[in-house]
Amino acid sequence: MSDIPYKVYLSENEIPSAWYNVRADMKNKPAPLLNPGTGEALKAEDLMPIFCEELCKQEMNNDDKWIDIPGEVLDFYKMYRPSPLVRAYCLEKALGTPAHIYYKFEGNNTSGSHKLNSAIAQAYYAKKQGLKGVTTETGAGQWGTALSMATAYFGLDCQVYMVKVSYEQKPFRREVMRTYGATVTPSPSMTTNVGRKINEEFPGTDGSLGCAISEAVEAATSQEGYRYVLGSVLNQVLLHQSVIGLETKAALDKIGVKADMIIGCAGGGSNLGGLISPFVGEMLRGENQYEIIAVEPASCPSFTRGSYVYDFCDTGRVCPLAKMYTLGSNFMPAPNHAGGLRYHGMSSILSQLYADGYMKATSVKQTDVFAAAEQFARVEGILPAPESSHAIKVAIDEALKCKETGEAKNIVFGLTGTGYFDLVAYQKFNDGVMDDYIPTDDDIAKSLAQCPKF
Ligand SMILES: *Cc1c(COP(=O)(O)O)cnc(C)c1O
Repeated sequence: MSDIPYKVYLSENEIPSAWYNVRADMKNKPAPLLNPGTGEALKAEDLMPIFCEELCKQEMNNDDKWIDIPGEVLDFYKMYRPSPLVRAYCLEKALGTPAHIYYKFEGNNTSGSHKLNSAIAQAYYAKKQGLKGVTTETGAGQWGTALSMATAYFGLDCQVYMVKVSYEQKPFRREVMRTYGATVTPSPSMTTNVGRKINEEFPGTDGSLGCAISEAVEAATSQEGYRYVLGSVLNQVLLHQSVIGLETKAALDKIGVKADMIIGCAGGGSNLGGLISPFVGEMLRGENQYEIIAVEPASCPSFTRGSYVYDFCDTGRVCPLAKMYTLGSNFMPAPNHAGGLRYHGMSSILSQLYADGYMKATSVKQTDVFAAAEQFARVEGILPAPESSHAIKVAIDEALKCKETGEAKNIVFGLTGTGYFDLVAYQKFNDGVMDDYIPTDDDIAKSLAQCPKF
């Protein structure tokens, strides 16, 4: 065995003191958000009735390469960061691969995922602005949990619209949020205009992230002292998540290892965007080459089967338009178990990088993902989140390819969280009753036909 340790830890002082803004190094900037009424590009001021002021500025900031992490956010980061970079020796041995596999583990906090990295930053800026509280949506529940931890820390009110299917399937997730003081409402609800309208149009719907976003935005803009916050997709969220990539890069540098391949699961793109940012920065500046792979569920394949067009970010069509790989804002993914990956669109930053050939994408089937999750859990010990297991599946596939070619590639993947709240899904898999829903071309074409035309 080599002298590389199982876990590469950085010291507390090595937590980055600034986030890295990959947009500053992109020649083709991500397309601007558009006003859905006029089709004009939005300015930071236009977003301020919806989002916190400082976050609006970060959303529009394509120029500053580094943005200081506020001291109070850094103090919070120190409670659970730096997160470990783990060498998967046991998985390598089980696979019999010459590849070297590393994973950056973001599940070591109560919320159980990377989402806390952005939640604490967003709660901090809301507090600094003197707001009473924030509203948001949550799909599988990780974002809502992370946000309720962050708002509890800063003494803010937190109202969460939770996709109905998750609200019902994950009562414990809901209870963690309530424990941290949040109010949780199943979406679509009858408490907002847009919720009532969606319920009328799709009676008995299980809900979707797109619906819950519309409701949370309406709740924020109709209450004094509230703003809306979002846990993925937006430029500001990728910025905050760059802490993952910066730590990963620092840890690899420490042991003198250069990644060949970087793999991450992609829902709205925040963990993947954060993980790859510093590496893509090197590619954009012509300093280095990496193979980057986004992994999405076959049930919600925005990159691999969507179109790169302007679309609504939400089902209720109240949010700005974003240019992104999308399946159409009316796309209702079947209620599968990769809850956190069920969004119809993809981050504008990642969409532009993908269009420009800086990364590849692949989609995987749910049962294959759970098989990989169990294989990983049994040798590496960690119970992975279903979302994270998409990356595990492709990391294993790539390591097995190395076995055939004899290449000792350095494969790095993002292990975004733990799966303790996903045991209903594990149960279905173990009982052999999990299915693999894949939308037809017709389903996708129908939904895409409703995208706005520009
Ligand atoms: C939310 C979530 C994801 C997907 O969201 P991204 O914004 O694409 O990162 C992945 N893994 C876990 C554990 C999550 O909670």
